[in-house]
Parts: sequence; C-alpha cells; structure tokens
Amino acid sequence: MTVSPITVPQANPGAGYRALQAEIDAAVARALGSGWYILGAEGRGFEAEFAAWLGTAHAVGCANGTDALALALRGLGIGPGCAVATVSHTAVATVAAIEMAGAVPVLIDIDPAHFTMDPGELAAVLANPPAGLPPIRAAIPVHLYGQAADLDAILPLCARHGVAVVEDCAQAHGATLGGRRLGTLSEVACFSLYPTKNLGALGDGGVIATADTALAERLAALRQYGWRRHYISDEIGVNSRLDELQAAILRAKLPHLDACNLRRGAIAARYDAALAATRLAPPARRPDATHVFHQYVVRAPDRGAAQEALRARGIGTGVHYPVPVHLQPAYAGRVALGPAACHVTERAAAEVLSLPMYPELQDAQVAQVCEAIGRL
Ligand SMILES: *Cc1c(COP(=O)(O)O)cnc(C)c1O
Repeated sequence: MTVSPITVPQANPGAGYRALQAEIDAAVARALGSGWYILGAEGRGFEAEFAAWLGTAHAVGCANGTDALALALRGLGIGPGCAVATVSHTAVATVAAIEMAGAVPVLIDIDPAHFTMDPGELAAVLANPPAGLPPIRAAIPVHLYGQAADLDAILPLCARHGVAVVEDCAQAHGATLGGRRLGTLSEVACFSLYPTKNLGALGDGGVIATADTALAERLAALRQYGWRRHYISDEIGVNSRLDELQAAILRAKLPHLDACNLRRGAIAARYDAALAATRLAPPARRPDATHVFHQYVVRAPDRGAAQEALRARGIGTGVHYPVPVHLQPAYAGRVALGPAACHVTERAAAEVLSLPMYPELQDAQVAQVCEAIGRL
C-alpha cells in the first residue's frame, strides 16, 4: 500500500515566514545589531503599533498567551480565594492560566453552533454558584476559532454581578463584533503570538490589551518581578517578557495581518461552497461579527473516516481539541463544572475537524481540498 504524502498540511508556519522573508530577516538583523535584547525599542514599538492597530490605549507584551491570561487576572487582583468561569472547549492554556494566577476554574458548556461560552449557563452559575467554590470574580470568554463569543449577552451579565471579563483573543486577532475589534470590548484582553496564530511570532510571545492606564502599568510591572523602578520590586511579579527579536518579527508581520485575515476569509468561502454538496455544514457565523478563521472547523460525525479520506488525498487535518479540559488526566474529577456538565462540549470534542487554514495556501491547494471535501 502506498501512502500519499501530505501536500496540503493543516498549518504551515514556515510558509508564513517565507512569504515575508525579506522583511523578517531585515527586522531580525536590526534587532540583533541593536545590542539590546530584552524590553527595548522593538518591544515598545510593537506594543504601540499593536495598540494602535487594535484601537486601544495600551498593549503590554509578555512571554506567551498563557502568561498573558495569568497576568491579566493578577492585574485585576484575581487570584487565591477567587473562582473564574471559562469553557472546557478551549486550549488547555486558558484553564492553566487560571490556576497559575491561584484562582479556581469553573468550566461551563458551549453553544453548539458557535463553540463558544453558553451565556445561559454563565447566568446560571453566577446566580447559583457550584457549592464549595470561592466567589466567581471573573469570566474568560474564549473567541474560539476566530469568532466572537456572545459578548452581547456575557458583558451585561457580568457587569450586573460585578464580575470582570478577560477576553481570550488568542485565536481572534482582528475579529470584530458589532463593528468593534475583539479585545476592545472588555476591561482586558489577552492574545497569544504563538507561530500558528493569526499574528504569530517565530517563537513564543503574548500581548495584553487594555484601555486602563493604571492596569497597563501594573501589568508592565508584574511581567518583570513587580518592578516599576529598576531592581525594586513593589509587589511580587514574574518573569514573562516579550524579547526584542520576537517583537521585531511581529512588527514586520503586523502590517500584513488584515490582508492575511481577508485571505483566510476567502479560503473559508471556497470551503463553504464545496461543503454545500455534502452532509457536512459549514461553520456558523454570528450575525454582526467578522470571523477571522484561525481555524475552519466542521462537525464530522464520523471524524476518523473523514480524516482518513482527506489523508488519502494528501490533505492534513487537525482536531481542536480532542479531549475537553475537564476530561484530561490533570483536571478530571478535580475541576468544578456548571450544571450542564459540559455535555455539548463532549459531543463537540468527538466531532470537530479542522481543515487546512493559513493565508499562504495556494489556490491550487484550496481547490485540492475542495475537491476532496466534496466527496465526504
Ligand atoms: C494558543 C492559545 C492560548 C495560549 O497561548 P500560548 O501562547 O500557547 O501560551 C490560550 N488560549 C487559547 C484559546 C489559545 O488558542
């Protein structure tokens, strides 16, 4: 039996580098030549340019998206003695960050159409928290796959309960809701800059966005030992810095992000059309929102067979994510769940299938995927 090689990988960060190689190489040379490698002009430049692009006052770089979430919680004063509500259908990082901050996660279910936090269940846990938990002080809606969580319901609900909202924008750079960019609608928002994200470094990186100047200053201190003055810790902090090399690379990539997101949208439209001939439904779009297709995810009831059929035609697929956080060995039986017990999440984890998605996919590769999915 011959195994055909993968000619269309599901993700391809190397293609992202090659597409901008001259600009990135020049940025790297500039950073290396500067003689300054941590928290310097490149980092400040990236923070200013990212905040301007997003449309907020402040951006604070840090080492990765997980740290961004943990720092944001700590910056809001949320830690030991607090619970934080989020979803189980997410990168485990969201939940790891809550525990890094010293808080207790409460995992609630998702809306089956958009794969994001179910506001009805959030309302239920805020009105009637699971027994034995400290008070819920924050919620982290995750804008999964590049599309907004239902902030129109979540923000007023949290405001009524005095609960802070931290947006997990790790998959949603550039997505909008009601004409506004995600990451500008709540008090603080966290972005991962992991290489495969819509805005990706060539290593680890993260950035926190806020319009609150005092919070931004606190976050800038917390990421570096609690320093506001050199070598003097005013409070206990951590080491979570975005380095100059990554900041310089991100400055080269940021001006191309909107065009890259448009290209993702165009690829998604081709996949939608190809799926029309099949039993599989294209991803649901929320009205009054733009989806930036970090992932293009369909539900495939017989996922293993679909993956195998695509694999046989040289097409890579992914599963985001195969095991919900509350069923993973580190968390099972230990984390609190909302009253819906994450049943919608468990079904989603068994069915979700991510097709190849990155801006550098060639038209011929997109056609190859469309041809193959038309047979599913
Ligand atoms: C990638 C990701 C994170 C974590 O980011 P890292 O940079 O890998 O630490 C957090 N939340 C979500 C939803 C993610 O996709």
